[in-house]
Amino acid sequence: MNSYTYPHFFSPPQTFSKPNIPLTAYDIMPPMSQPKKYHIWTEGCQMNVADSQRVASALEHMGYAPTRQPKEADIIVLNTCVVRQSAEDKAVGRLTSLSPLKKRNPNLVINLMGCMVGVKGAEKLRAQFPYVDVFSPPSDPGPLVSFLTQDETRTLTFAELDQRNAQLDGDLILPLHERGKLISAHVPVVYGCSHACTFCIIPYRRGVERSRPVGEIVAEVRSLAAQGVKEITLLGQIVDRYGKDVPDGPNLAALLRLVAEVEGVERVRFLTSHPNWMHDDLLDVVAEHPKVMPHIEVPVQAGDNEVLANMQRGYTREDYSRLVEKIRARIPNVSIATDIIVGFPGETDAQFRQTYDLLADLKLDVAHLARYSERPGTVATRRLGDDVPEEAKWDRFRALEELQEQVVGVINARYMGETVEVLFEEKVRGRWKGRTPTNKLVFVESDENLRGELREVTVTWTGPWSMQGRLPMQIPNGQLPVSIPLEMITVS
Ligand code: SF4
Repeated sequence: MNSYTYPHFFSPPQTFSKPNIPLTAYDIMPPMSQPKKYHIWTEGCQMNVADSQRVASALEHMGYAPTRQPKEADIIVLNTCVVRQSAEDKAVGRLTSLSPLKKRNPNLVINLMGCMVGVKGAEKLRAQFPYVDVFSPPSDPGPLVSFLTQDETRTLTFAELDQRNAQLDGDLILPLHERGKLISAHVPVVYGCSHACTFCIIPYRRGVERSRPVGEIVAEVRSLAAQGVKEITLLGQIVDRYGKDVPDGPNLAALLRLVAEVEGVERVRFLTSHPNWMHDDLLDVVAEHPKVMPHIEVPVQAGDNEVLANMQRGYTREDYSRLVEKIRARIPNVSIATDIIVGFPGETDAQFRQTYDLLADLKLDVAHLARYSERPGTVATRRLGDDVPEEAKWDRFRALEELQEQVVGVINARYMGETVEVLFEEKVRGRWKGRTPTNKLVFVESDENLRGELREVTVTWTGPWSMQGRLPMQIPNGQLPVSIPLEMITVS
C-alpha cells in the first residue's frame, strides 16, 4: 500500500476523542428548559441527504429535538433540489404550504436551503417568500446557526465561535435517531462543479468546484466510524476531481486510502465519476485496496456522439466503451453503474438506437434512466429547446428499462449459489437488508442482530433488483459453516 504524506494545505487531525461529543460553543449555551423541535424536509441527491444530516447534527447540538410533524416544529428546514423542474415545483409547493403555519406562529423559524437558494444570493426568493427567515446555500448550515445564535454569540468569545465553526466543518455528531444505527454514511468531499454539461443546472446553483481539506474529511470519517458507521461513500458531482483545485493537494486515490485506514471503517465507496477523470491511479486503488469497493458509478448520458457533443460531455461513445473495458480489465468482478438521459433536444430515433445498442453491448450493472425535461437557466433550455415528443421519450425510456432488466437479470443470476460478503444495514419487513461489495442488494432472514455485521452469505435467489441469501449455519460446538444443498432450500 502506498503511504501518503500530507501536503501543506491542510493539517491532519492528530488526536481523536470520540465517541464523546467534544466541548463546543453549543455546550456552553444555557440549557433549554423545554427542548425545542426541528423538522427537516430533504429533496434530491445524496449530497442533500448528507447536508441535512449536518444541519440536524448542528441543531441537536444546540438542544433541539427532531419531530416528524412540521406543525410541532420551532424550526423547519427545507433542503431543496432543482435538478428537474418538477423537484423545484415540489419545493415551492412545500414552501407555500408553510405560510399559514408561520402566520399562526410568528416565532417559527423557516430556513430554505440547497439548490433552490444557490450560491448567488437570495434577493428574488426573499421578495417572493417574505416569511422565510433564513436562506442557506447548498451544503452550508452556517446561516441557520448564525441566525439562531445571534443573541448567544454576543456572549461568546472568538475562540468559542471558532470552536463552533470547527464543529460544523470537522467532527460530525450524527442526529440522535441515527447515532449507533447508521451503518452507511455519505461524506461530501467536493462541492460544486466547474463542468458545463448543457442540460445541468448544478454549476449555477452549487457554484464552482471546491475540494474540502483532507484533514476535515478524515476527522469527519473518524467521528462517523466512532458512532458505528462502517461504510463511507465519498461524494462529489465529479468526485474524481477531488483535490484538482488545490495546488499539491491529494487526489481521490490518496484520499480513498486515507479514509480506508480509519479505524472502524470496513468499506469505502465514491460517487459520481466522470469518464474523463477516471485515471489509472484511481482504478488501481479500487483494484488493490480490500476496503475500497469494486463498484463504479460513471454516467455515459447518451450513446450517440452528436448528442454527447450537444450535451458537452467531452467524450465519445468509443471513449466510454474503452473506459469500461479498462475498468473491467483492471478490476475483476467490478460492477458499473451509469446514467442515461433519453429525449435530449434533437435526439433522433437513430441516435437513440445508438444509446440502446451501447447499453446492450456494454451490459452494465445499473442504468439510472431519465427523460429529458427543460431546466430554465441551462444552456440546453436557452439554445436547444425541447423538441422530442413526450410519447417518444416514454417509448425510449421503457425500451431501455426493459433492456436493462434483462441485462441485470442475467448478471445477477451469476451470483446464484455463490458466497458473498454482505454488510448488513437494517431490518426491513422482517428481513435483514445488506449490500455486497458490488453494491447488490441482499435480503436474509435471521433472528440474529445483523446491523453493522459483515457476514458471508450464500445466494439462494436472484432477481434484477435484489437477491436473497442465507447465512452459513453454525454447529453447536464450533463456528464451522454447514453447507446445505441448494435444492433443499425453500425460496420464497
Ligand atoms: S459533470 Fe455535468 S452533469 Fe455532472 S454536475 Fe457537473 S455539469 Fe452537472
